[in-house]
Formats: sequence, structure tokens, C-alpha cells
Amino acid sequence: MNVLGLFWRNLVNGPATDPYPFGPTVTQKRFRGRIEFDAPSCEGCKLCERVCPSGAIKFSKDPGGLAFDCWHATCVFCGTCEFYCPTGSIHQTDDWSLAHLQEDKYRMVEHGLIPNMTCSECGATALDTAPMRNTRPPLTDEEVATLRPMCPKCRAKFMKNRKKP
Ligand code: SF4
Ligand code: SF4
Repeated sequence: MNVLGLFWRNLVNGPATDPYPFGPTVTQKRFRGRIEFDAPSCEGCKLCERVCPSGAIKFSKDPGGLAFDCWHATCVFCGTCEFYCPTGSIHQTDDWSLAHLQEDKYRMVEHGLIPNMTCSECGATALDTAPMRNTRPPLTDEEVATLRPMCPKCRAKFMKNRKKP
């Protein structure tokens, strides 16, 4: 097709690009974007921090518990953390709109906190993590509810004395 033919075709068909950011655009299915963290379902195993190839995930001690941070500007959106998380506490959204000003770079973070709690059995201070579910046989919902307010030591004692069917 010659240049005039191309010109005419483009004039008739109109723009082939999306008007973003001045209008809507398309996000592909299963697009791997910004990370979301759900603190209440997290076991605190820190596997996500260990497998993250870019060091975007950091757990740190906080006066109120254990802080989770995922830096969007460092994340390479590989999905490894979501893949390995045993509880589904990390979810990769399809949000790719992460452009930001330089002065906002320290706000480009997914922050979560696993709070401290008082153990229902011994009164010790412990993290309010979800009980580990990779047990055999799997924990029932009643057992999860019983274990949830316990510290790691009391959970271990409970599991040792657990009646298996
Ligand atoms: S449960 Fe998932 S989100 Fe929580 S520390 Fe483990 S891998 Fe990370
Ligand atoms: S998607 Fe990949 S780079 Fe981003 S936080 Fe998860 S493991 Fe790290």
C-alpha cells in the first residue's frame, strides 16, 4: 500500500491507540500488577520476603506488632510471592497505573500490620497471626478459632495434644 493509501485508511479507521490518560484503556486479563496484602490471613512465615527476587517485600518489627511493606517502585511484578504464599494473603491486582512524582516515591508502598495480641492461655504477648494450616489432617474451623488467640508455645502444646481422628 502506498503512502496515500495508508493515509486514507488511517483517516477512515481513526486512531488505533487508547486515549489514556485522557480516556479509558484496556487491561489484559491476568495482568500482573500492584501487590495487595491481607494481614488477618497471614501466617507470618515470611516466605514471601525470602522468595522475592527484587527485595521489594520487607517485614520489620513495629511497636504494635510485625509490619509488612511491599515497595511498588522496587517490585518487578513477577508474582512469585503470590505463588508461594500458603494462605493467599498476597494478591496481585491488575492495577498497573503506578506512575508517580519523584517526591511521592516513599508513598508507593503496600503497608500492613500483624498486630500484637495477648495469648488467651498464658497471657504472653504474641503476634496475631493466622494458625498454620498445613497440618495432617487439616485443622477444622473450630480448631482454627481455638488456636487463633494463642501464642506459638500454647499452639504447639495444643497441636501436641490434638486428638486425631
Ligand atoms: S503467609 Fe503469605 S503473606 Fe504471610 S508471611 Fe507467609 S508468604 Fe508472606
Ligand atoms: S511480585 Fe515478585 S518482585 Fe513483586 S513483591 Fe512479589 S515476589 Fe517481589
